[in-house]
Amino acid sequence: MIPPEIQQRILGAITQRAPAIQICPVCHVGRWTLLEGLIKLPIITEPKQFPNVVLGGASVPLVALTCNHCGNTLLMNLMVLGLGDLVASPQPNSESNSPDARQDQK
Ligand SMILES: [Zn+2]
Repeated sequence: MIPPEIQQRILGAITQRAPAIQICPVCHVGRWTLLEGLIKLPIITEPKQFPNVVLGGASVPLVALTCNHCGNTLLMNLMVLGLGDLVASPQPNSESNSPDARQDQK
């Protein structure tokens, strides 16, 4: 569960960077609800090896907004939202380092 103060930071960043997000573009009815957790989406860096999955490989941290009417879900990259500090800093020599995460550690 994401603490309320972190939820406010996430929603504030989304509102600032994507003010046009209001009503769901699929059903034109629903409003967005922030998923109470982060999503770690694996990145396949060697397409020729697909569908082999490397456990613990590179990933990108995302937040999800779900339409409360039709379930349409938006995924937004925490790093791009400027919220990279919300995820753990990558450890040197760790195989789970995210290239995006490293870029935000400057
Ligand atoms: Zn919808």
